[in-house]
Amino acid sequence: MAEKFYRGAKYMLNAYQLDQVPLDQGREVAFAGRSNAGKSSAINTLTEINGLARTSKTPGRTQHMVFFELDDERRIVDLPGYGYAKVPRKQKEHWNATLPVFLETRHCLQGVVLLMDIRHPLKELDEAMLIWCANAEIDVHILLTKSDKLKQSPASKTLKQVRQEAGLLHPNVTVQLFSSLKRRGLSEVYARLDQWYGLAVEPDTAAGGDN
Ligand code: GDP
Repeated sequence: MAEKFYRGAKYMLNAYQLDQVPLDQGREVAFAGRSNAGKSSAINTLTEINGLARTSKTPGRTQHMVFFELDDERRIVDLPGYGYAKVPRKQKEHWNATLPVFLETRHCLQGVVLLMDIRHPLKELDEAMLIWCANAEIDVHILLTKSDKLKQSPASKTLKQVRQEAGLLHPNVTVQLFSSLKRRGLSEVYARLDQWYGLAVEPDTAAGGDN
């Protein structure tokens, strides 16, 4: 399955409040991270649709949850980037109250892809996100983004450290290196997404078993 499937992504709707989100059915995967972590770039890279998620020079501009449809049963939700100082206090309070409720109550949510700039991983709000997801029993897959900015050895060291530290906050977290710019780490993300979306080929089927 993998990458071809994700090219069919289409913008669906923006939601500011939980009564504006699509019906809680099918399967959803959320993308979350600090503003400027590379979330829009990652969504554009994974769907191979430039401009699907807006990459921005003005971090914090997108303060809505943005839903993209992959097919009738599957969606991506791009959560508002957090940690940007210029976002008005009222909006921050709104999201601090809304996000945990979304994570706790959204039955179709299969997992969260949590993006962190490899040079600034596990900031306070990333940790809060991990704890919220742990409380809501939602799996997390961390992308250490812009991995092209570090040489291999410091990148591997950060990968190990983040695995260890994130593992203390969340019992079911996976971590990988990722670069939209160099298109590194794509197959690992697709494999995780395929699992969450129920698209992963079972080993028996892959081996051509005779049912
Ligand atoms: P968002 O705010 O999380 O959606 O982040 P964006 O996708 O808008 O990216 C923020 C900045 O990081 C932009 O200037 C991007 O060009 C840059 N960026 C994103 N991904 C990469 C990457 O893989 N490598 C490098 N070097 N820069 C990246």
